[in-house]
Amino acid sequence: MSNQESSQYNLTTIPRSQHQLSRKQISEAALKVLYRLSSEGYRACLVGGGVRDLLLEKKPKDFDIATDATPEQIHGLFRNSRIIGRRFRLVHIRYGREVIEVATFRSHTDDSPKNELSSEGRILRDNTFGDIEDDALRRDFTVNAMYYDIDGYSVLDYANGLADIEARILRLIGDPATRYQEDPVRMLRAVRFAAKLDFEIETSAAEAIFQCGPLLTGIPAARLFDETVKLFHSGKATRVLELLRTYNLLQYLFPALDEILIAEPSELMLDFIDQALVNTDARINNELHVSPAFIFASLLWPAVHKQAQEIQSDQLKMVPALFQAGGDVMSRQIKHISIPRRYSQMAKDIWTNQPKFHRTQGKQPSRLHGHPSFRAAYDFMCLQTMVGLMPSHLCHWWTEFQKNNTAPVIERQAAEYTKPRPRRRRKPVTQSGNSHSNNTKPNES
Ligand code: ATP
Ligand code: MG
Repeated sequence: MSNQESSQYNLTTIPRSQHQLSRKQISEAALKVLYRLSSEGYRACLVGGGVRDLLLEKKPKDFDIATDATPEQIHGLFRNSRIIGRRFRLVHIRYGREVIEVATFRSHTDDSPKNELSSEGRILRDNTFGDIEDDALRRDFTVNAMYYDIDGYSVLDYANGLADIEARILRLIGDPATRYQEDPVRMLRAVRFAAKLDFEIETSAAEAIFQCGPLLTGIPAARLFDETVKLFHSGKATRVLELLRTYNLLQYLFPALDEILIAEPSELMLDFIDQALVNTDARINNELHVSPAFIFASLLWPAVHKQAQEIQSDQLKMVPALFQAGGDVMSRQIKHISIPRRYSQMAKDIWTNQPKFHRTQGKQPSRLHGHPSFRAAYDFMCLQTMVGLMPSHLCHWWTEFQKNNTAPVIERQAAEYTKPRPRRRRKPVTQSGNSHSNNTKPNES
């Protein structure tokens, strides 16, 4: 950011008595980290979504901490920590299931040898440490650049974030096109936060998305998987899909779905997608388990269903047609988003199992019931019945069938999908690299 641009921002300090953010709302683990860093003489602040969401009186998804301690110094203080990342080096400190992410204050200078830019201006590495003000101004949105200082409990607002929180505006810090060029994923983050927080994307940041959208083709497919899951597991998936379409971004994530939506799909399929997203939102908001496989199975279903119908014939029955179409659609999809195999396989199983729900005679139901993806396939089938893509009595029939069957069968199926996988060497994770490796259970009801 140029000096001229950064000079438009001034620090506003909101003392403890004038904000409603309190330590009671911060997890014990995050407080432990903050206090430990502070007692060792380091600066330690809660930052990002933790501060933003607490000021909005929402429950934060996680607590991120920023400090002037280097990753090595942080690692030296916490036995339960490890240094991760390449693009950004961070420290993860684990307390049971909770992971606290601690980042060292960074600056945003283009000419530093420790920062690498691609030919399109994308930041490949960003490991130049800086002071807290530098750190604030290299963050994405003004509402994400507020700090809660554990030393004195004030809120530090470097980029007028508080005013934007009040006005419910998502404003990029600096010039939007430049900020998207540095990291095109910020466009997806804009959509996610706009949907999740019910904020308006500020006009220039919104307009630049149309121009910068194609830059998403340069993002590694593994990072797009993480971002896509975050988008559709934000609790506002319906709005997310709407916004992705509004900003012409869906084509970079789900080109097959985008094409079908543009070509005016059947009302039933539109209803199905809608219902799948409403259902996912309801589960997230009720803190029930959701699997990424279900989202991918749902969003790709219009393409798979259409292709299977086209190739189905007297010689090729519906199950093998779905098998073929599912494999084909999936192999095209993973060029854009690298879906881990356990999820892509589960999505394919969900699809090929759909016609089998029609078979309610003889041994067929028990056989289907014993399939490891039965539970997810059943949820999927019930969604299909809700919108009229399958006969409505089937959901009821299978619900009753399960009641009369024994529970251990279901437990055995869940165990199939949750079997520990052989350990592989871990790859470094990027800053946004959230592992979903524990989300392997089939959907529960
Ligand atoms: P949530 O955790 O609810 O998804 P968040 O704002 O905390 O939202 P994180 O991905 O946890 O998002 O990142 C923490 C903070 O790091 C952000 O608030 C932002 O300040 C900064 N940040 C994350 N990703 C980027 C990015 N791509 N560009 C600039 N800053 C970023
Ligand atoms: Mg966060």
